[in-house]
Amino acid sequence: MKELIVQGPGQLAWVEAPEPQLTTPASALVRPIASASCDLDRRLIAGTTPFKPPFALGHECVAEVLEVGSAVRNLHRGDLVSVPWKIACGACAQCLAGRSSACTTVPRMACYGVPAGGHWGGLFSEQALVPFADAMLVPLPAGLDPLAVASASDNLTDAWVAASRPLATRQDARVLVVGGTESLGVLAVQMARAAGAASVDYLDEHPLRQQLAARSGAGVDLMGRDLDRSYDLVISATRDHQALRRGLLALAPGGHCSCIGIIFDDPKIPLFDMYLRDVTFSVGACSVQRHIPKVLDLVHSGYCDPLLVEPQVVGWEDAPQALIQPLTKCIVVRERIT
Ligand SMILES: [Zn+2]
Ligand SMILES: [Zn+2]
Repeated sequence: MKELIVQGPGQLAWVEAPEPQLTTPASALVRPIASASCDLDRRLIAGTTPFKPPFALGHECVAEVLEVGSAVRNLHRGDLVSVPWKIACGACAQCLAGRSSACTTVPRMACYGVPAGGHWGGLFSEQALVPFADAMLVPLPAGLDPLAVASASDNLTDAWVAASRPLATRQDARVLVVGGTESLGVLAVQMARAAGAASVDYLDEHPLRQQLAARSGAGVDLMGRDLDRSYDLVISATRDHQALRRGLLALAPGGHCSCIGIIFDDPKIPLFDMYLRDVTFSVGACSVQRHIPKVLDLVHSGYCDPLLVEPQVVGWEDAPQALIQPLTKCIVVRERIT
């Protein structure tokens, strides 16, 4: 089979690799049919993260199930599933507490497409091994377009959790999304609306993303407005330190900032200003598994439309070129065989 490998900074190529085999009775083999770029992928390819090549790329996809081990109960060949980015057992204390991103059965940060806790393959590959199939894979409702939920594995669900958790305890909340990466901010606009925000504004100078955020229901004309103490929830989907700071200073008393742009260094944050407002700051790798069914349901019911980010949809042969600098999302597709 072929794997899409980051070989060096800016170098992506399809490389022949041995087909994965079922390793345990709980495992399954899947074949990605719609694989999306995460906003992290561009940086992984460019070599601007702590994770060094070579490694197989990709940690967001909808796949068809090819084969399941003898202990797998809920899945069968031909099922369409969302494959979470994180490898997790579903049975350790962390998984049972809903923190699949901290699963202790596998190495810390074991996941697809990022060499952070070993090598587990990538979800652009022709096949992938899922070690804990029942615990990890989430079947798609019938009739749901795989393209629309290719990012449920990570970005889309991350955006949902960033919005819905703080909004669950805040009525009539005013939300500010600080954009800055390819798709996460626009997805967060949609999810804040789906989670019941009273209003959503979007802060980002990028014209295309502004346009997509506006189409997703955000106010985007913030020029010259004093944002200080204006928002109950700020979703910071940026890596820019100044933009993060601006978001934090836009928090109203009692507000919450969900920081979902992965920042690898240590920005200076206005801790005393935050103290005076009694705000909460949350940051962390999203434990997506338990939230994916809800996200699939939101898309299926029309509460949000991830395709509004206007992904570039390409075939496998065009993937290396398209993934180097996606405008928003890039979704790589292949025909089903089951
Ligand atoms: Zn990701
Ligand atoms: Zn676990």
